[in-house]
Amino acid sequence: MGDKTTPTVLILLGPPGAGKGTQARMLEEKFALVQLSTGDLLRAAVAAGTDAGKAAKAVMEAGELVSDEIVIAILRDRLGDADCAKGVILDGFPRTTGQAMALDALLADSGQKINAAISLEVEDTAMVTRISGRFTCAACGEGYHDTFKPPLAPEVCDKCGGTTMNRRVDDNAETVASRLVAYHDQTAPLITYYDGRGVLKSVDAMGAIDVIAENLAIIVKTAMQ
Ligand code: AMP
Repeated sequence: MGDKTTPTVLILLGPPGAGKGTQARMLEEKFALVQLSTGDLLRAAVAAGTDAGKAAKAVMEAGELVSDEIVIAILRDRLGDADCAKGVILDGFPRTTGQAMALDALLADSGQKINAAISLEVEDTAMVTRISGRFTCAACGEGYHDTFKPPLAPEVCDKCGGTTMNRRVDDNAETVASRLVAYHDQTAPLITYYDGRGVLKSVDAMGAIDVIAENLAIIVKTAMQ
């Protein structure tokens, strides 16, 4: 398994709705890694009203990409936190070639490397349904879906018993369409980028959540060796 001086770095690639967040949370538990979602970090910045949050808010609501400068700064700060020394699963970052190059430079500075960039392969047509039905527990962040993963008792979190559920403002059909365009234009080229670096893996992400998780775990186990 990965030695202690070089923490594991995994990247999950895939369009909005591919299941990056859900799978990252499962991998986090299974492999004792830290999920690092730039979307979550940006939403926290928006909620806190920081300068970065103020600049990002309208861009996120339009389903476009926040500037590389803001996102890279947020990620760099978070990567410096002590818990990230356990190893990280990057969920939603990088999303542009500029971000990928900045990540390479950041990791090189600390003698780290990417263990695997895993592409979650899905069909665009399924993404709108997946996204429009999803919500998360406000207390613990566990993700649910009206059709694919409802909580056992309506509006009660299976994990922590929380009763407040959040639906994202950008999870509507119109914004999803823009987010898919942004993905194909700016993020999908990273599949070729990481293939060229010999770290690309891919997994069929159209099936049941648990089956995808099992297939991902096999890839991750090998990548961490
Ligand atoms: P997500 O939670 O990953 O779906 O991200 C939600 C929104 O946050 C995206 O639609 C973008 O507006 C913004 N965002 C998240 N991560 C990035 C990133 N790496 N680069 C640019 N914008 C991002």
